[in-house]
Amino acid sequence: MTNKEQAINKISEILYGYLKIPLSDEFKDTPKRIISAWEEFCSLEPDKIDKEIEKITETVFKTDNGGMIIVSPLTVTALCAHHLFPISYQISFGYIPRKNKNTFIAIGLSKILEVIQLIARKRPHGQENFTKSIVNVFEKALNPQGMGIIVLGVHECIRCRKNNGFKTITTSMQGSFTNLKTRMEFLELLKKNDVGIV
Ligand SMILES: [Zn+2]
Repeated sequence: MTNKEQAINKISEILYGYLKIPLSDEFKDTPKRIISAWEEFCSLEPDKIDKEIEKITETVFKTDNGGMIIVSPLTVTALCAHHLFPISYQISFGYIPRKNKNTFIAIGLSKILEVIQLIARKRPHGQENFTKSIVNVFEKALNPQGMGIIVLGVHECIRCRKNNGFKTITTSMQGSFTNLKTRMEFLELLKKNDVGIV
């Protein structure tokens, strides 16, 4: 029996045994579907995901522009670490590239989204750790002068179970973004262009 078949059997025990769900036509493939759905958000090969992230972040390039670069809002879905319920994220990401002689080191705009999507699908996270994981990857890849990230999450585990749609915001400001002036520029640009979540 494969690991996957064993996992499906265990889910079957929980559903039809502990939860007393009837083994009708409607539910007969549910254990298989649950495992397949979880596999989409819990990579069975996390090392492979790390390698993919590394490959993408190696595509940095030189630019003459040393100003702030912002992508927002990036929309990503992940599972929460506590309940494996979905969390819908909207992310504002900004950075000021590192200077390298007379040029600056940047990364493709769509690459930022691809990396964050891979982090989201590697495994379930708490929102705080998810935010920090994004910071760590881009710190390593870009070593930017500064970086700011604002993550807004709608947690289905709270929305459904507590009947409350409050949103959670986590932030991380690194390097020059810890200066009030730079941080305000980041927030103002998001606000003025109506692309932010604040
Ligand atoms: Zn949860």
